[in-house]
Amino acid sequence: MRRKIIAGNWKMNKLPNEALDFITELEPLVKNSENEIVLCVPYIDLFYTLLNAQGTNIKIGAQNMHWEKEGAYTGEISSEMLKAIGVEYVIIGHSERRKYFNETDEDVNKKIIKALEVGLKPIVCVGETLEERENHKEKEVIKNQIEKAFKNIKDISNVIIAYEPIWAIGTGKTATSEDANEITKFIREEILKIYGKDVADCAIILYGGSVKPNNAKELFEMSDIDGGLIGGASLNAKDFANIVNYNI
Ligand code: PEP
Repeated sequence: MRRKIIAGNWKMNKLPNEALDFITELEPLVKNSENEIVLCVPYIDLFYTLLNAQGTNIKIGAQNMHWEKEGAYTGEISSEMLKAIGVEYVIIGHSERRKYFNETDEDVNKKIIKALEVGLKPIVCVGETLEERENHKEKEVIKNQIEKAFKNIKDISNVIIAYEPIWAIGTGKTATSEDANEITKFIREEILKIYGKDVADCAIILYGGSVKPNNAKELFEMSDIDGGLIGGASLNAKDFANIVNYNI
């Protein structure tokens, strides 16, 4: 059976002292969960949260990385740097990075290759815009994103995929559990075509887009949804804990 992963994405929120307080508040609330709990925090909060989460069931991730090992890339952070301080996960290709920082499918591919090379687990985001959905193009768009993201990657056993319809991110509009499951199932079928049934059966595919404590259970109990990537609701420890504990 596939494990469930509940990952928070704080985006550009929380100062180090707020991040420390958050872990302190969250830890007792989620200590009995058997789900994998990940918090993807701003770079500046990584070290603090890693220290405060030591010995707990909370794992820490970054929200981006560069694909080069080192060099003249002012303002960037490498996968080696993340790995060196104990980061386990990294979000790659979030729609906000694609939209505001012009990240392409080719960049996403280079980042996944590099993350896997150093032993980070990439959480790879795919998803369609509202316009694409209204034109019934979502499957075509996602197929294309997947093929490009995983180009020349032989082993995706450490990759997590997050289906995030862009129109549902931060808008309060959640995909229905049936719609979300249809696309996660479609993603699994695409993985099957590239990597075969065993890999597809084990692939972890999350849903993200306005997941809240009141809709998490319904979404995460669908056949092909293996947990969630949570933005807004991961900023509040009680809300995030309620989402993590949806199956307790
Ligand atoms: C996200 O940023 O990945 C996300 C899903 O945000 P929200 O939960 O706020 O829609």
